[in-house]
Amino acid sequence: MKIVPLKAFKDNYIWTLRSGSHAAVVDPGEAQPVLDYLEAEGLELSAILATHHHPDHVGGIAELLSTRKCPVYGPKNEPIPTLTHPVSEGDTVRIPEIGAEFSVLDIPGHTRAHIAYYGLESLFCGDTLFACGCGRVFEGTPEQMFASLSKLLALPDPTLVYCGHEYTLANMQFAKAVEPANTALAAREKRDQALRDRGLPTLPSTLGDEKATNPFLRCKEPAVIDSANKYLGSRMGDPVSVFSAIRQWKNVF
Ligand code: ZN
Ligand code: FE
Repeated sequence: MKIVPLKAFKDNYIWTLRSGSHAAVVDPGEAQPVLDYLEAEGLELSAILATHHHPDHVGGIAELLSTRKCPVYGPKNEPIPTLTHPVSEGDTVRIPEIGAEFSVLDIPGHTRAHIAYYGLESLFCGDTLFACGCGRVFEGTPEQMFASLSKLLALPDPTLVYCGHEYTLANMQFAKAVEPANTALAAREKRDQALRDRGLPTLPSTLGDEKATNPFLRCKEPAVIDSANKYLGSRMGDPVSVFSAIRQWKNVF
């Protein structure tokens, strides 16, 4: 099994899982990059997985289905008319053609019923957890988003994080503003800048990396609490308020 990023739009990744002559794709916002890849590599499409309803993640599904036939998995409680298999927390997605099995996790916040797929020591988390950042809270509450990120945080450190966008370097500029003295963050920036200089993705990252450098997962760290309080001119310490403050700050950064 190999996991390959296909670029879409400006900074989206369509994660393509391939084994033998079969492939599955996660979040095909556009059909063409997928069709080109399947054609070039002689692959059959065995499944489509969607994490949430935004067009840059599901926009290519209808076109893929016009020439290919396969099951389409996605969040049960979101408006995605192309789904054949609506799923939610507790469900298992099996793709025998590529030897993959994923458990579905509900991680609402960015959207109302956003889901993640966890399996093969890998996490496909759409626009909820980004490398060194997190998605905007569009349809849920900061409480929900914080709980969703905490759920992901409980997975093992070596878990590979495959998120929906290449936002890493921009996210790090904000992370440095929150935690200027974080040495793990400085080291990671050097490494990831070198990857981008060579035109390579910074993904996947690992949950271990995220725990050490992602401010949105570090809301109990004194340095993050201090920065949140400086931003708001307040004195609070509970992690949800800290999360909410730095999320607001990032929106205008
Ligand atoms: Zn989105
Ligand atoms: Fe997106």
